[in-house]
Amino acid sequence: MIKQITNIDEIKYLTNTFHSKKKSVGFVPTMGALHAGHESLFKKSVSENDITVASIFVNRTQFNDADDYKNYPRTIENDLQVLEKTGVDVLFLPKHEEIYNDDYRYRIVENSLSKILCGSSRLGHFEGVLTIVLKLLNIVSPTKAYFGEKDYQQYLLIDGMCKALFMNVEIVSCAIIREKDGLAMSSRNLLLTHDERKIAPNFYKILRNAESTSLAKTQLERLGFQVDYIEDLYRRRFGAVFLGKVRLIDNVQI
Ligand code: AMP
Repeated sequence: MIKQITNIDEIKYLTNTFHSKKKSVGFVPTMGALHAGHESLFKKSVSENDITVASIFVNRTQFNDADDYKNYPRTIENDLQVLEKTGVDVLFLPKHEEIYNDDYRYRIVENSLSKILCGSSRLGHFEGVLTIVLKLLNIVSPTKAYFGEKDYQQYLLIDGMCKALFMNVEIVSCAIIREKDGLAMSSRNLLLTHDERKIAPNFYKILRNAESTSLAKTQLERLGFQVDYIEDLYRRRFGAVFLGKVRLIDNVQI
């Protein structure tokens, strides 16, 4: 059975013990509802480190919409099976009250990249993300921490934060894992209706194939997507769309 820890002092003590024995610690932070995208991060960490810690924490401060937080899928029984299967050693399940012992008075603000793309439509989102990631990295003190390119803007911001603050951790990026039909795996896919799920793969197809961002937008809207943004930046095309109430994001190299 995987070791489960909720207490901050306990996980700090555990990872310090590994460091004192010169063992490397890999860390994969998640919000649960685990799928093959998360699995690929766990597997990479397990293959590159002596010990792997995963966390599951649905971080309230990064949700700009209370309903989105409430409806976020929570599938802990299945998550435990995924963690066991992939060889994760420790699951950290922190409590909101302990993590935010300061009532979120202290937070990380980035003033450039966090204000565009997802940052312009989800106000405060990346403050919540960067603050929780900093807290988790300080608690777990991993040798390496793993993040998916599915959330490429998030990965860039976290990598930038760790460099700006001289943190003693290597940030590793991992390729996007997709369903057979091309849809990027995401916990939120569970919230799509049967009909929305059938349309959803067109998001990736259009993002990849459209000749321009404006053509992509038109094609997506014609199929019933509500487009938040489609933008070409850093040799990538980034997109965020709604299908009904479900927000999907994706990005492709161009
Ligand atoms: P989440 O649970 O959505 O916060 O995701 C936890 C980590 O898994 C983040 O670093 C995500 O970028 C990564 N991740 C989520 N979905 C995928 C995917 N389809 N492919 C690769 N990484 C992913």
